[in-house]
Amino acid sequence: MLAGAASLLGGLLASGVPESHKSLQIYFVDVEGGQATLFVTPEGKSLLIDTGWPGNNGRDADRIAAAAKDAGIKKIDFVLITHYHDDHVGGAPQLAAKIPVGTFIDHGENRETNDANASRVYGAYQQLLASGKYKHIVAKPGEVLPITGMQVRVVTADGEVIERPLPGGGKENTNCADAAKPPVDVTENPRSLGTLITFGKIRILDLGDLTADKEMELMCPMNKIGKVDIYIASHHGFFQSGSAALVHGIAPRVAITDNGAKKGGSIMAWDVIEKSPGLEDLWQVHYSEEGGDAHNVGAPFLANLQGPDAGNYLKVTAAADGSFTVFNSRTGETKKYAAR
Ligand SMILES: [Zn+2]
Repeated sequence: MLAGAASLLGGLLASGVPESHKSLQIYFVDVEGGQATLFVTPEGKSLLIDTGWPGNNGRDADRIAAAAKDAGIKKIDFVLITHYHDDHVGGAPQLAAKIPVGTFIDHGENRETNDANASRVYGAYQQLLASGKYKHIVAKPGEVLPITGMQVRVVTADGEVIERPLPGGGKENTNCADAAKPPVDVTENPRSLGTLITFGKIRILDLGDLTADKEMELMCPMNKIGKVDIYIASHHGFFQSGSAALVHGIAPRVAITDNGAKKGGSIMAWDVIEKSPGLEDLWQVHYSEEGGDAHNVGAPFLANLQGPDAGNYLKVTAAADGSFTVFNSRTGETKKYAAR
């Protein structure tokens, strides 16, 4: 009887609250080179950043719903759409049909009206909003989103960036000096709704597919963000984003790239992350075919290897003291990162 009681208590803290329930859980759902990142707070409040692709018999909605189930939640409180490309907003109708959603958050109107794909997925998303079933927030830089249990601050939206530095930011960025002026991107990418998420001492940066031209506005000559613990690699690690001015300026401990086998995971962006000062590890949702053996991380840090796709995910569990772990669902292994 005593042995049974002891094993039951094994997974609990002294307070009787399961340890995972005191942590912020973040699932990097494999949507094959799109984005779907699910945050669940200790109180069970949830934020999903992007919904993956449309089509594929609801594959991405199924994978997001599986992550939600694993986290023990039955609805998604907030779904943030970074921008109106099919690998981000495309999965929204299927997701909403699969699991209840409270509020959608976005940057406002589609700005890439000359693109048939963007117009189509934006139209489907507008139809969803027009159903009247959901709350809707159009977010602006500087705003803090009404999510409890973690702080979600908007740093970029609709081509605008925060005017003033955040706490922890405001220093000159020494990585700007030799930065070539990036081309101006006229798609929805630089419109991405980017956020800095803070949970206790942990800082996590997600800029969607924000391109290098906007990274310069955010990071040069002054680094408005400061350093972060976890960088969700912009644009799936595609070379148009993830400049040294951004990545070396925020100097993450850990970077996670939500690339697919044939999407994102560019050699140039990979090199920038690998050379980032203070980087402890880079994790990838997929092996990148473009990267080849020289520009991919080792197997323990890959959720999906080459070959038939298994939809494996990565999961961060973060504690308020600044410590966190990364779990690879393919290997079943967890790596710990101590508080600094
Ligand atoms: Zn994308």
